[in-house]
Amino acid sequence: MENCKFCKIFQEKKIDLENELAVAFWDANPVSKGHLLVITKRHVKDFFETTKEERNAMFELIDKAKKIIDEKDKPTGYNIGINCGISAGQTIMHIHIHLIPRYDGDTENPRGGVRGVIPDKRDYEDK
Ligand code: 5GP
Ligand code: ZN
Repeated sequence: MENCKFCKIFQEKKIDLENELAVAFWDANPVSKGHLLVITKRHVKDFFETTKEERNAMFELIDKAKKIIDEKDKPTGYNIGINCGISAGQTIMHIHIHLIPRYDGDTENPRGGVRGVIPDKRDYEDK
């Protein structure tokens, strides 16, 4: 699709991993060392517009990337996230899965992880 940054990255082959339906590349503004994005080759807006085959292809690259990052950077955990829609924080309207390696001590209190999309709600009291 014209004017789509991520279609352009794919078309210009500025990618690091690829399979039949998906590609992956390093995030330009990494949250942590090894932050990777996985996208579909087809231009679709968000996860809910992808086919089962595209979902499988994207998660195959997530698995592949994890092995590479484990070896290279030795993270101690991961967050996997997809922002769907402007309200949920999506800024580029071409489906992408964030694979974010995490490292012991990279933030003072990591408890709650992706719950931090609403910062005040990230940590919670166990009942
Ligand atoms: P979103 O907020 O839409 O879920 O995330 C968009 C992501 O794309 C951000 O993490 C941002 O750093 C990344 N990004 C934006 N522009 C570029 C780019 O031109 N190249 C790469 N590799 N990543 C980008
Ligand atoms: Zn696109």
